[in-house]
Amino acid sequence: MGAPTRLRSIELSGGRLPETAADWLRSLGGPTLLRVPGRDPTRRRAVTTLLHGNEPSGTYAVHAWLRGGAKPAVDTLIFLGAVEAALHEPMFSNRFLAGARDLNRCFRPPFSGPEGELAREILQALEAAAPEALVDVHNNTGHNPPYGVGPRAGDRELDLVGLFGRRYVHSDLRLGAIIEATQDHFPSVTVECGRAGDPAADAVALAGLERFLGSERLGGERLEGAPFELLTDPVRVCVAPGTRLSFGDGVDPRADLTVSADVDRHNFESLPVGTPMGWVAGDGPWPLQALDAEGRELSRELFVKRDGRLETRRPIVPIMMTTNPGVALADCLFYVVRRAPSASEPPAP
Ligand SMILES: [Zn+2]
Repeated sequence: MGAPTRLRSIELSGGRLPETAADWLRSLGGPTLLRVPGRDPTRRRAVTTLLHGNEPSGTYAVHAWLRGGAKPAVDTLIFLGAVEAALHEPMFSNRFLAGARDLNRCFRPPFSGPEGELAREILQALEAAAPEALVDVHNNTGHNPPYGVGPRAGDRELDLVGLFGRRYVHSDLRLGAIIEATQDHFPSVTVECGRAGDPAADAVALAGLERFLGSERLGGERLEGAPFELLTDPVRVCVAPGTRLSFGDGVDPRADLTVSADVDRHNFESLPVGTPMGWVAGDGPWPLQALDAEGRELSRELFVKRDGRLETRRPIVPIMMTTNPGVALADCLFYVVRRAPSASEPPAP
């Protein structure tokens, strides 16, 4: 347990990777920056993944792609972050190690501690490489369709997300995530491929990565089909400090807040007023905290306690709902977003 070791930098040119992603990660042992030569050495692209140790789709995709022997269109940097957390048994079950910090909350000053130093080191490497674009590949812990998240919603960001899915959450929230630090330097998006452990999410990551790394030119390669859906103004809904949290199909008498165990089925749905979300203990404290990008507390505008139940007070679109208590307490329960009404189609590329 503990902090990450120093960043290793590896030039990858030829040579066969171990057969499984797990064996490959074991051979790496810690945070690693891979440099893969491409067909055009005058340009670069970057992929970051495994910033959370319990989100393996990006690692599987990178491993499969590299093992397949494909040569990227341009020189490629691949950063694997929380390798030690991922390796801690049971594998791919720890977002970060006990006693360590969430790496994808450390990409901002003061860059303190081992995670902060690692974050600064990787930012320096990325800025020096000046890639055309960065894709940061993640998983959710709940049921979600693939979607992108980022602080900018320009054509180039939508083009990147469109390689993986058809939804984009334009977020002004500042959490210390890597793309917040790189967005001013080059187009950067986070892609959430779906639930960790779901083969469909692994397939989304691999197909998107193939498009991202294989295309001679970025842009104009979005997935065909349904219109692009743009969501904005996320509000981060957390459990209030000290709240005893449970997930279940009925009220848990030991908990201050019991969230419905199947709540993540509602991700990306428009929920009307009065939609039940769970149960609140009779005389317990208000269990939620919901902050927007300006730091306004909105939980009592969004939700209401009625007859022991927690219900929506306004129509909401929840995303990224988790049913993992550890994740809910360490990070958040879910986000509430708004559908951008005029943006069902992306701007022309
Ligand atoms: Zn993540």
